[in-house]
Amino acid sequence: MKHPSQKRAFPPNFFFSIPLFLIFAPLAGIFFWAEINSSAAEPLKYNYIKHSFDEIPMKKEATPQAVIFIGPPGSGKGTQAEKLKGYRHISTGDLLREEIKKGSKIGLSCKEIIDKGEMVPDSLISDLIESHFSPHILLDGYPRTLNQARWLDEKVKISQVFSFEVNVDKLVERLTNRRVCPSCKGVYNLVSKPPIKPFTCDQCATPLIQRADDVETVIRNRMRVYQEETAPVIEFYRQKGLLTNLDASQTPDTIADLIHKKIFPSY
Ligand SMILES: [Zn+2]
Repeated sequence: MKHPSQKRAFPPNFFFSIPLFLIFAPLAGIFFWAEINSSAAEPLKYNYIKHSFDEIPMKKEATPQAVIFIGPPGSGKGTQAEKLKGYRHISTGDLLREEIKKGSKIGLSCKEIIDKGEMVPDSLISDLIESHFSPHILLDGYPRTLNQARWLDEKVKISQVFSFEVNVDKLVERLTNRRVCPSCKGVYNLVSKPPIKPFTCDQCATPLIQRADDVETVIRNRMRVYQEETAPVIEFYRQKGLLTNLDASQTPDTIADLIHKKIFPSY
């Protein structure tokens, strides 16, 4: 025999719980849907609908997520940067040229320094990069020194670093066979894309020339300087477990696939 006070005890009987379930289950569904569409899922969502993060304003307090491309000129970084949707592409070289062209305050200071033949100081470069922060950024050509890498570590959350490894002999072979037209700027390769008439431009019949910096000793020297400069930065990221080496001689699609699998491992 039950005590009278137990008659309306909570929880209610099974029959009463059915309407409760019908009310709360859709609410839970809506909540879950909102959650997976919030900021945590943005890289995937934006990658697949091919929007640009450039349109999303950066909140002051938010930490940008960064992907870094390290590699010498001619290693295919630019091609891969174009293929990676959803990340704002920040190339220090492009930014500098852009600011100088605009005649901005930073641009004018940089131009003065470059014209004197000096290196642009880290503080100016970091200001420039920070002014282009976005929730998801792709850094190309930065950091180049350990100081820059340490500064960046405090400003952004780095998700992946890709080092584009080139075979110096292959690069030399490709660049030393390059011939350009001084008149129309057409580019030829004696092996892979030779002109119809030897040493003559197909478009305007001007004799082709070899650019001064396409000479083997110049290329090898430039590569040596580059590798000495970036080796400590690459080692810095290797120790943090963030580094992926990419063989830059593979096809652009193969490389894009490798990058994609690293950044979006669930896809
Ligand atoms: Zn020409």
